[in-house]
Amino acid sequence: METRKADLEMTPEQFRTLGYQAIDQLAAFLSELPQMDVTTTKEKVELAKELSHFSADEPTPSDKVIAETIQLMKNGSLYNSHPKFWGYITSSPAPIGIIGDLIASCFNQNVGANQLSPMATEIELQAIRWIAEAINCPEHGQGIMVSGGNMANMIGFLAAKTNQAKWKVREQGLADHPQLVAYCAKGTHTWIQKSADLFGVGTDWVRWIDLDSDQRMKTDILEMKIKDDLDAGNQPFMVVGTAGSVSTGVVDPLDTIADICEKYSLWFHVDGAYGAPAAMVASEAHHFKGMNRADSIALDPHKWLYSPLEVGCTLVKSGQTLLDTFSANPEYYGFEEDPNKAVNFFAYGIQNSRGFRALKVWMSFRQVGISGFRQMIADDITLAKELYSLASATPQIEVLSQYLSITTFRYLPTKTMSEEELNKLNEAIVSRMQKEGKVFVSNALVDGKYALRACIVNFRTTSSDLEFLISETLRLGKELSH
Ligand SMILES: *Cc1c(COP(=O)(O)O)cnc(C)c1O
Repeated sequence: METRKADLEMTPEQFRTLGYQAIDQLAAFLSELPQMDVTTTKEKVELAKELSHFSADEPTPSDKVIAETIQLMKNGSLYNSHPKFWGYITSSPAPIGIIGDLIASCFNQNVGANQLSPMATEIELQAIRWIAEAINCPEHGQGIMVSGGNMANMIGFLAAKTNQAKWKVREQGLADHPQLVAYCAKGTHTWIQKSADLFGVGTDWVRWIDLDSDQRMKTDILEMKIKDDLDAGNQPFMVVGTAGSVSTGVVDPLDTIADICEKYSLWFHVDGAYGAPAAMVASEAHHFKGMNRADSIALDPHKWLYSPLEVGCTLVKSGQTLLDTFSANPEYYGFEEDPNKAVNFFAYGIQNSRGFRALKVWMSFRQVGISGFRQMIADDITLAKELYSLASATPQIEVLSQYLSITTFRYLPTKTMSEEELNKLNEAIVSRMQKEGKVFVSNALVDGKYALRACIVNFRTTSSDLEFLISETLRLGKELSH
């Protein structure tokens, strides 16, 4: 084949023209966003019908593909970039992160092996060190970037299992050995169940520790359960402290958990998927005392570092603990094995081929610095507190909790209702609010009370957006309680 016509290829000139067109259309979307609803109101059938016009049989001009794609997404999405979006824990994506993903795809590095991604590997290593420094855990400057919080926590779980088992667990498995047991607070995110299940420990061997009246793990019960398991001949192997729970944002007593882990020689893992970045903010730093004693920390840059999905990160003090857990050197690779000469990320985690997720995180650190993140996170927390004050000052609203940037509250009608009726009413409010799409919150159960839950990890939100949330709650509460 002397010359070749590949249909996917574009000339540099075509790429430039189409790229400008795409960016122009995306910039227009971002500028219209504040005036738009937060989510589409279209049903699944309608969306599927829109797609039924397209076919994989006929090639379509690229400019048409780009314009139609952006139109489809614009008319059929939930916009977590919207200033009035506070559902779950999903941030507005930083524009520089969006551009970072584009650059990363263009160079298309496989950050599984150093040789395949020389500078990308260095950038990932530097981004990991910057995250560790930012959250005041500079000794945790090693680790790996993964797809999100679940994976970041699973890496911690697997490292705990391999480093704690007193036998060759990678070779021998778990049968015919003492039962491994993990400990975490009630309400810990479901990654712990998935891990116990997938990695063979078994979900019956997760001990869910009760919470105190502040929703934090009761550490005296933790210690008691560990002793009970030791007496029964089981092998406790890890304790999870959550730094920012997914429902209410509360931080477990990390320093006390670290003491207990030290006393019983257990792996201490911190799930800071959501909350760990708040350790940058001076007024919140006391909650995170003891986080620097963890063996592993999970943190999600796609939450409170405002990176576009996906990127999670596991931080460890010693990269060797990850190598001990994951490395295997098949003969078909022959990559350099000395980590001082080359870091091959495939040996530090589960993935083999890996994309360059680190770039968007690294570029945003360069754009705003740690001080820029500190300010945005502090502002999110200030706004969440403002929402709490606004809600407390509103007669028809009962505030339920406020930790980090999560505020929960519920509507109370003038007529008396049972707890069950109140839960039903507030569930209906959340559901209607999400459907109408003027403003978006999700829900939490706080002490059995169904709550509206706003989690502000959104650098576009301002006070008036929160005032609107309160007025919408009152409007829907009134309407639905009649
Ligand atoms: C979001 C979250 C997770 C899961 O992270 P994903 O990025 O959704 O996989 C785990 N733990 C906590 C505390 C979280 O907030």
